[in-house]
Amino acid sequence: MGDAGMDTDVVIAGAGATGLMLSCELRLAGVEVVVADRLAGRTGESRAGGMHARTLEILDQRGVLDRFLAAGERQPVSHFSGLWLDFDESESRHAYPLNLPQSAIERLLEEWAAELGVRVRWLSEVSGIRQDDAGVTVDLSTAGAAPTPLRARYLVGCDGGRSTVRKLSGIAFPGTPATMAGLLGDVRLPGLPEDYIFMRRGPGGHVSVFALEPGWHRVITSEFDRLPDRDEPATFEQLRESLFRLVGTDWGMCDPQWVSRFSDAARQAARYREGRVLLAGDAAHIHYPSGGQGLNVGVQDAVNLGWKLASVVRGEAPDTLLDSYHDERHAVGARVLRNVQAQVALVRPGAQTDALRDVFASLVEFEDVNRYLRGMLTALDIRYPADGDHPLAGRRVPDADLKTHEGTARLHELLHAARPVLLDLRGNADVAAAAEDWAGRVDLVEARSEDGHWPVPGCGEIPAPAALLVRPDGHVAWAAATDGAPDTAALRTALTTWFGAALPR
Ligand SMILES: Cc1cc2nc3c(=O)[nH]c(=O)nc-3n(C[C@H](O)[C@H](O)[C@H](O)COP(=O)(O)OP(=O)(O)OC[C@H]3O[C@@H](n4cnc5c(N)ncnc54)[C@H](O)[C@@H]3O)c2cc1C
Repeated sequence: MGDAGMDTDVVIAGAGATGLMLSCELRLAGVEVVVADRLAGRTGESRAGGMHARTLEILDQRGVLDRFLAAGERQPVSHFSGLWLDFDESESRHAYPLNLPQSAIERLLEEWAAELGVRVRWLSEVSGIRQDDAGVTVDLSTAGAAPTPLRARYLVGCDGGRSTVRKLSGIAFPGTPATMAGLLGDVRLPGLPEDYIFMRRGPGGHVSVFALEPGWHRVITSEFDRLPDRDEPATFEQLRESLFRLVGTDWGMCDPQWVSRFSDAARQAARYREGRVLLAGDAAHIHYPSGGQGLNVGVQDAVNLGWKLASVVRGEAPDTLLDSYHDERHAVGARVLRNVQAQVALVRPGAQTDALRDVFASLVEFEDVNRYLRGMLTALDIRYPADGDHPLAGRRVPDADLKTHEGTARLHELLHAARPVLLDLRGNADVAAAAEDWAGRVDLVEARSEDGHWPVPGCGEIPAPAALLVRPDGHVAWAAATDGAPDTAALRTALTTWFGAALPR
């Protein structure tokens, strides 16, 4: 895009998974971005161990999933606080967790971003922010040198849990402090099988071990009778001592690749937006890493924000569209914090937790409970507030098989360009007329559904709709039921809400 007096449209602070995903979304929409990171380059820290179904679907929606699948390993099950959850293939084409270390996820995202024209500016730390009506001036500092000001329309803080952008913007980070100390390490466990999995709750805390990559295991300890020393780097020796305290062995672990600490501190930014500054990923929410949700939520924040920010930068939608980013994603983040806190409560030592856990373990045996928990962990059940009572309104659109004029297609393939899609499955003239009034912004696709019913996590099977307005993030902004005339007045309202006013006739 570019604009007089601006160096770029959007500055993204932080080249982690959230910042990189956001940069790709903005570039797909033709927006200029600068991604600045204070580090000298990738650290190679593994951190997150993989991705859940909805994140995999999002990558599929952009046509880049295959490169992640080729590098990772599909897992048959997931867990809620160590209680196993099964997956149901009818809910998603990607109803499995993919084991893939965060370092590999970031490398693949950075490669994709580079293909879209993004070059990360390493050794560039955001150290100052000044907002005004027209834009934001961001100071970028490199050790020892005077800060360089960069002028942009918007700044997005994807700069992690200790976010400078959040602090400089005066956004509060309320929540609960750490009550336990966690350590983890990526190590070799000679003599143990490659697929060795171990989980044990004891009087002092919890230990889990699982295969990370061929030859490497992740060992995690949570001790509830001590507090973390946040500012001291974790050591391999501390991890070994923690293991001996909790299970009386270290399995002869050796060759630590990476050792780190974590806690159950749970905090969330009070606002995801302060004028021209927005927050996403860990900058907006931190929590205990149970259920492996943090990276997923950050990537999904980025995909919710990207198309909205692009639409505002292009002058199509009003700036108030960005408030919906806070409304939708703050609620999702709050729910994640609560499910993680519930998971922490279920691993705490003690007789009362033993009893609670027994009851919970029985409940998880019920398919409805299993489905509810996996919907929450995978984020497949997210439903944003939306007008209309169609069961798809606000939900992520299923990846239905379609027959188009060109042949067959999957619905998620229609979202590769990160543009809104108005899908007409009944050849309705009023739907086509609405598409004409938003021509250039919304793509009309005429097709037939191959199946009469679509599986929708959270509400079972529903009859295939007659027409759908799908946002670039894959959520349904409007849907028409199979029977009866589509409510095209409601369609036009949804088009205006999400993609700006109609073109003048
Ligand atoms: C021990 C551990 C285990 C985890 N396990 C899982 C898991 O299994 N599954 C899962 O989904 N999540 C997991 N997580 C969480 C996951 O790692 C985070 O949620 C994820 O890294 C968030 O990505 P992000 O891009 O928002 O932030 P980060 O990855 O923290 O990236 C922030 C980036 O901003 C840069 N930065 C910071 N300050 C500035 C500044 N002032 N200017 C410019 N750049 C700056 C940093 O250098 C960094 O590159 C785990 C986390 C930890 C700590």
